[in-house]
Amino acid sequence: MTDRGSIIYVENLTVSFDGFKALDALSFFMDYGELRLVIGPNGAGKTTLLDVICGKVKPDNGRVIFGRDADISTYREHEIAQLGVGRKFQTPSIYLHHTVRENLELSLDQDKSVWAMLFRQLSSTERDRLDEILAMIGLAEKPHQIAASLSHGEKQWLEIGMVMAQDAQLLLIDEPVAGMTDYETEQTGLLLQAIAKERSVLVIEHDMQFVRQIANKVSVLHEGRLLCEGSVDEVQNNEQVMEIYLGRG
Ligand code: ADP
Ligand code: MG
Repeated sequence: MTDRGSIIYVENLTVSFDGFKALDALSFFMDYGELRLVIGPNGAGKTTLLDVICGKVKPDNGRVIFGRDADISTYREHEIAQLGVGRKFQTPSIYLHHTVRENLELSLDQDKSVWAMLFRQLSSTERDRLDEILAMIGLAEKPHQIAASLSHGEKQWLEIGMVMAQDAQLLLIDEPVAGMTDYETEQTGLLLQAIAKERSVLVIEHDMQFVRQIANKVSVLHEGRLLCEGSVDEVQNNEQVMEIYLGRG
């Protein structure tokens, strides 16, 4: 949106598992305010890329530059989260026995214990922010519902809301629409587009209909490398991409 350079820039990243290169000298960047889709066959290294950016996996080689910060590839996960990188995993990690609103409250301040968070008074700014997030994730009518009783799609939205409540500037979202109904999938697309008006969003997804719904720019990963980037039409018409997906060769 604004010309502030890249929010995330990974350079020459290599990650090996027992000698197998999940990422192979990968370089990748995205701009502030982008909603970027990363696609690629199973095993391409997509989840590993997110794992490195959020600090869960340490690369053998390469750098991860977040905004104007230094190389964060050696930082610990909670330090990276505090800088403004939020991760949403494939399986929602919400507090099932707490209400929707409590889950969001618990994400407001990652330093506090669950106990301290649930018994402190929220400021009016924080309350307004939670209301805004509840509306965005489509759960404004269900703040007091126990998270365990939400539908699969609603749990996914709640966790996206929790990443927003952390005030992440870069959201990393792994396969959000897997297992969702068509309606939930479409709503998720609208939600991610709304989030990308204020933040940067990196989404991994297989569902090409969903990718087509929301993507401006798509990056294709294959065997730990960036195969190509472009609009949905450009990547779908790319000769090498067609070969991979059609399993030729
Ligand atoms: P994708 O998300 O694109 O399907 P991943 O990043 O999960 O791919 O995995 C890339 C490759 O690295 C796969 O071959 C996978 O088996 C391997 N891999 C990922 N994580 C680990 C791990 N913790 N230990 C060993 N191998 C792993
Ligand atoms: Mg994956």
